[in-house]
Amino acid sequence: MSLRIVILGGGESGTGAAVLAKKHGFDVFVSDLGEIKEKYITLLNKYQIDFEQKKHSENLILNADEVIKSPGIPLDAPIIKQIAEKQIPVIDEIEFAGRYCKAKTICITGSNGKTTTTLLTYHILKNAGLNVGLAGNVGKSFALQVAEENFEWFVIELSSFQLDGMFDFKADIAVLLNITPDHLNRYNNEFQNYIDSKFRIIQNLTENDSFVYCFDDEVTTNELKNKEISAKMLPFSVNKTFEEGGFLTENILHIKLANNDFTMSIEELALQGIHNQYNSMAAGISSKLADIRSEKLRESFKSFKGVEHRLEKFLKVKDVEYINDSKATNINSTWYALQSMKTQVIWIVGGIDKGNDYGMLKDLVRKKVKAIISLGVDNSKIHEEYIGIVPIYDTQSMDLAVQTAYRLAEEGDTVLLSPACASFDLFKNYEDRGQKFKDSVRSL
Ligand code: ADP
Repeated sequence: MSLRIVILGGGESGTGAAVLAKKHGFDVFVSDLGEIKEKYITLLNKYQIDFEQKKHSENLILNADEVIKSPGIPLDAPIIKQIAEKQIPVIDEIEFAGRYCKAKTICITGSNGKTTTTLLTYHILKNAGLNVGLAGNVGKSFALQVAEENFEWFVIELSSFQLDGMFDFKADIAVLLNITPDHLNRYNNEFQNYIDSKFRIIQNLTENDSFVYCFDDEVTTNELKNKEISAKMLPFSVNKTFEEGGFLTENILHIKLANNDFTMSIEELALQGIHNQYNSMAAGISSKLADIRSEKLRESFKSFKGVEHRLEKFLKVKDVEYINDSKATNINSTWYALQSMKTQVIWIVGGIDKGNDYGMLKDLVRKKVKAIISLGVDNSKIHEEYIGIVPIYDTQSMDLAVQTAYRLAEEGDTVLLSPACASFDLFKNYEDRGQKFKDSVRSL
């Protein structure tokens, strides 16, 4: 009898894992407590995979030899507890697909910048003509692509939730961008648990692999003191130079590996801001490790279009620039947004904060912000922090926020939506918030 694999969650990763498992002859069953989207049902039917939706039937789940869990399902969900009691191993889709993946992998994690760096790296490899797939948190399921495609490289974005379900998986090039407190509720409010989770990116690395990390990130470098890593260490920094790694001299970005020193003026990079210099170094080092030639790298650094909702320069209206940074859902990402502003700013901020310390932005606010427009159901914390520093205008709809900004802005200013908060009080998600911002700006 074949081994039984049960997959919890019938979304992108779950159905992809189901197809791969089916192809390898397992007895496969998919169970989703919610409704499964039509396109995934079609896929499951195409491969004749059994599934259920709107319920978890214990008798069909607890007889599994192995469970593949969608990263969105919390570890304290009742069904997960029952599975743990039965000591059935629970893994992530990436772990499962990794067993069958013959391609080389560049795996990217961090608290902020994952999607940007993943898409930039993919853009560089693709543009240079490599046979490359994009997977993980962005794009199509890794498992489905392992089942159906024949890529030589994968660029994979990994969240800490995915890393939590990874054990034997090994990256060829592991990238850790930064670690700042986030999602701590999933980690018993212990920062160290979250750090440990992020550091799973280096597990199983051998001396033939590489570890690319941010030397300026103190959490990362402190943690590294306790680790023995046999992989090649490739740091990047905006303050320090290295024999090998990524760094700046004056306004020149260097990607230096063995006998190759790639240089480029930071003004020529399509992505601006210090955070994006970090992201570019991480992507550049990874690309050089994949043997991408310097002209191709230069070309791709210039042509990358950026990612929607991440410091996206959207429109200029009456000489005022409107920037959509709706994906900034924590203080750290908003810090980099404000830091990169070259004009006076009308700042739209607020939503549901995950324990934000707004004090960390005070200096930047004093220097660059001429008015705050708070956009949330509860704006009291923003008032407490910034009262007396700059004028604050309360709003509870995007239209009103944008119209107020329009009234206040003068020629040459920037209106920046960078909320530092989650969006669920007034919007469906950060994409919805960013879209509404753009709709409101368009109808000014
Ligand atoms: P993630 O996928 O990790 O959430 P994104 O690339 O989607 O990261 O960017 C999320 C937010 O963080 C955006 O507001 C973006 O401008 C900002 N950001 C991007 N890269 C970094 C970085 N290296 N450090 C801090 N903030 C960043």
